[in-house]
Amino acid sequence: MKPKHDPLPHGLALLYDPLHNKGTAFSEVERDAYGLRGLLPPHIHTQEEQMARFLQNLRNLADPLEQFVALNALRDRNEALFFRVVCDNVDEIMPLIYTPTVGLACQRFGHIFQRPRGMFLSINDRGHIAEILRNWPRKAEIIVVTDGERILGLGDLGANGMGIPVGKLSLYTACAGVDPAICLPITLDVGTNNETLLNDPYYVGLRRRRVTGAEYDDFIDEFIQAAREVFPDVIIQFEDFANHNAFRLLEKYRDRICTFNDDIQSTASVALAGLLSALKVKGTTLADETFLFLGAGEAATGIADLIVAAMVAKGIDPALARSRCWLVDSKGLVVKSREGLAHQKLPYAHDHAPVGDFLSALKALKPTAIIGVAAVGGAFTPDVLRAMADLNRQPIVFALSNPTSKSECTAEQAYAGTDGRALFACGSPFAPVTINGTTLVPRQGNNSYIFPGLGLGAIACGATRITTEMFLAAADTLAAQVTEADLAQGSLYPPLSNTRDVSARIAVAVAEVAFRQGVASKSRPENLLSLVQEHVYDPCY
Ligand code: NAD
Repeated sequence: MKPKHDPLPHGLALLYDPLHNKGTAFSEVERDAYGLRGLLPPHIHTQEEQMARFLQNLRNLADPLEQFVALNALRDRNEALFFRVVCDNVDEIMPLIYTPTVGLACQRFGHIFQRPRGMFLSINDRGHIAEILRNWPRKAEIIVVTDGERILGLGDLGANGMGIPVGKLSLYTACAGVDPAICLPITLDVGTNNETLLNDPYYVGLRRRRVTGAEYDDFIDEFIQAAREVFPDVIIQFEDFANHNAFRLLEKYRDRICTFNDDIQSTASVALAGLLSALKVKGTTLADETFLFLGAGEAATGIADLIVAAMVAKGIDPALARSRCWLVDSKGLVVKSREGLAHQKLPYAHDHAPVGDFLSALKALKPTAIIGVAAVGGAFTPDVLRAMADLNRQPIVFALSNPTSKSECTAEQAYAGTDGRALFACGSPFAPVTINGTTLVPRQGNNSYIFPGLGLGAIACGATRITTEMFLAAADTLAAQVTEADLAQGSLYPPLSNTRDVSARIAVAVAEVAFRQGVASKSRPENLLSLVQEHVYDPCY
């Protein structure tokens, strides 16, 4: 039986323990051994039959939020079956447990709340965080933590943001086979400035405005120290922090503990992988391209930084590499003469006259690639797409914002607006588009291609740091999984249903980097793939 970590409970307690429950699939032998006689109907189902029954019921539900709730309820009953359902039906289930449905689930979190999952640590718990973390019944090896201030493109959702760490950790298991028993989702509740939530009787968080400044920093510091004390080897993934905290916290902790910021670094890695695929189609290199970002936040500057790191790794001068990346934020083109620019934008504040809007910036800079990460739905207008098509034979158009309502353009708009010539990737799922008799299959630049394999590799080798080189290696590995057939149909990523295989390869590449850089705490085995596979959880009974 799986998982092996805990002694098995007995009788009803076993049926109510989601980590060990198999429901009607318990065998005759198990029913005798664990005191289950009479507590289950007599017929023994296979896991396949249980899965078919669940899927039939799931598909009868019309509303994605109801399907989200049904999947959560399944997980509360039987984790192995939940993950079997997810792993065997990734394309269908992933949009239900993660974006786009998870955005809606976070907005409605208090209204659909049934059972807690993970841990809530509030600012009122200051001084007791280590003690509270000890309430967690198992050893955590991966924590995904949010403070709920910038949930997807939806803004401050306070403690409702818990849907994100829970969803991300589900993807660790679904996409890479990380054992759910070692995953711990955490929400830090420091208040919310969202008036709607503060006035919502079903809101699950503290009724207070956000704590800021030294009080906030001290709380984060206490959390980090406590997490390291209670779970010494844990990897801490920061998720959906607002960018005024995200960059600072990453800089503060990245060289001190094993941590990374998913929104900045995994996004960068997945976007770079998509760009490498696009370059393969075009027959160009990064240095031949000019990238214009809509957005200058975590995703945009994270991607730009990794593009620069990739060029520098190929021997290109850092200043030249930076000159290839331009940002447009809510005030217009980021230029040198602008005052009070945030630290992370400075490397991309080049000499140029001020330009107020994206289309004018596009016309002035003539980019070969536009990358939308501003969460401004519809920002890639027909005029923007037309201009890209006029400037480029194969314009690179990445509309990475999500959820779907925040997408800069749909796949259909991207292809229709560029006579089907766009090399397109998206942040939300879009159906194939037939244009001029050719069917193009857009694929998601979803960071779930990256972080699960990265985490698996880091766990497998006992990484003590998460480095930039690991994100570069992950991007190269992901891009290498894109076949000629994928490229021929306009897909810049492999199908999501391949993620287990892709993640295993990324895990090997990441472990390889860790051993090379001397940040692996385990000794290097002969066969890295075997090392990684030893850590893979199998949801089959
Ligand atoms: P962020 O808050 O750090 O940055 C948003 C940026 O957009 C800011 O620089 C802001 O100035 C800019 N902006 C806002 N309004 C604008 C406007 N009207 N014109 C130009 N710029 C404007 O957020 P982030 O983490 O960078 O995420 C941005 C979006 O990217 C979100 O929708 C997020 O869900 C999405 N994202 C997608 C993926 C993926 O895997 N596809 C990964 C990470 C982020």
